Amino acid sequence: MSTVLIRGGHLIDPAAGVDAPRDIVLKDGRVAEVAEPGKTSLGKAKASSDLQIIDAKGLTIAPGLVDIHVHLREPGQGHKETIATGTTAAAAGGFTSVAAMPNTVPTNDSPEITRWMQAPERGASVRVFPIGAATRALKGEVLNDYAALKAAGVVAVTDDGHPILKDSIMREVLINATRSGLSVIQHAEDTRLTGGCSMNAGPMAFRLGLRGMPPEAEYGLVERDIRLVTELSMNGKGDKNGHRPHLHVAHTSTAQAVAAVRQARRNGLRVTCEVAPHHFLLTEEHVGAYDTNAKMNPPLRSAADRDAMIQGILDGVVDAIATDHAPHAAHEKEVEFERAPNGITGLESALGLSLRWLHHEWKLPIGRVLSLLSAQPAALLGLKGRGTLTVGSFADVMVFDPKQEWTFHAKDSRSKSKNTPFDGWTMQGRVHWTISEGRVVYKAEAL
Ligand SMILES: [Zn+2]
Repeated sequence: MSTVLIRGGHLIDPAAGVDAPRDIVLKDGRVAEVAEPGKTSLGKAKASSDLQIIDAKGLTIAPGLVDIHVHLREPGQGHKETIATGTTAAAAGGFTSVAAMPNTVPTNDSPEITRWMQAPERGASVRVFPIGAATRALKGEVLNDYAALKAAGVVAVTDDGHPILKDSIMREVLINATRSGLSVIQHAEDTRLTGGCSMNAGPMAFRLGLRGMPPEAEYGLVERDIRLVTELSMNGKGDKNGHRPHLHVAHTSTAQAVAAVRQARRNGLRVTCEVAPHHFLLTEEHVGAYDTNAKMNPPLRSAADRDAMIQGILDGVVDAIATDHAPHAAHEKEVEFERAPNGITGLESALGLSLRWLHHEWKLPIGRVLSLLSAQPAALLGLKGRGTLTVGSFADVMVFDPKQEWTFHAKDSRSKSKNTPFDGWTMQGRVHWTISEGRVVYKAEAL
């Protein structure tokens, strides 16, 4: 494998506390050197067949982004996305690690499927970390074998899209996942309150004549889960081996759910949460004239909920920005609102939206934005050697221009599907290079 020297750039590595001009040498898929400009062992070397040089003058170097909530649709739904196309989109968005949700066809509830997803034949551009199904076929009844799933490479368990409603089953899931050292990710939606609903309950649903999902459906389940974690954490001491359950709330969308997570953390519990860009930028108003590109689950909420997502990000209770990248083919979304599937794509717009709004508009320091998109999600799932660029870490790098404005066009997306509400939006912060384990997997064409 050849060596890569990135020189002339400014490194921001929040996990390592670095915010300074640095040259970086990548070798054999790892970070080999990080040094002041011109001070690496390669000095002012020239490019050769063994040495690739990336000129990062005027650009920022950061750890590759980590998305812990992505639907790659393989196996089974290759018409929406494949592992190859989804990870190509990820690379274009600056992501070098993606955690793939288990609601594939068949469901990822076995070591065989977990391994199939990671096989080189899938043609992934960036690292794929499968998340295993918590219960058989996501039915919320019978637990899968977590030890076997973990041995095959699973980094967490979830029934994403299908909340685990029964208290007794959720308790067993938390106990067994803790024993296997896995996080439990819950899609918090009490489906007993959301049957037949297709958007947020509120004035907009009333106006459009659609049935609305009440916010209680989300935070009621979050509160139930936190009660179970409280009980199982044994006053913070954990089980007999000292293991404490880790509950991660996926795509948090209501003010009350964020408040519940904030309180759980004050109580010393291992409870984390993520927010998707659409939930800190859009509201139910964006459903407009039954626009199915604004249909997702959890739905776009009220302005007060959106403001609570921003507040949660600014004050640190939100641990990660995750896209919930959910590709659907055009013909699937081009139906009546109530019949359209939930979800939007997000891998190529997450960085540009986060930098434009969280950083440039709302003044969150750039290091904190990058941390929410790399170091923190990597830590949350225990992805060792990811989300930082210290010597010895994986050579997962994003080289970008944080100031560059550009317009996102869905038609140019690398994803197989184009279902995004952000088509035509002006973003700030453009990826120039993405390197995954020492390999250039994306290079911007016209700069
Ligand atoms: Zn999802």
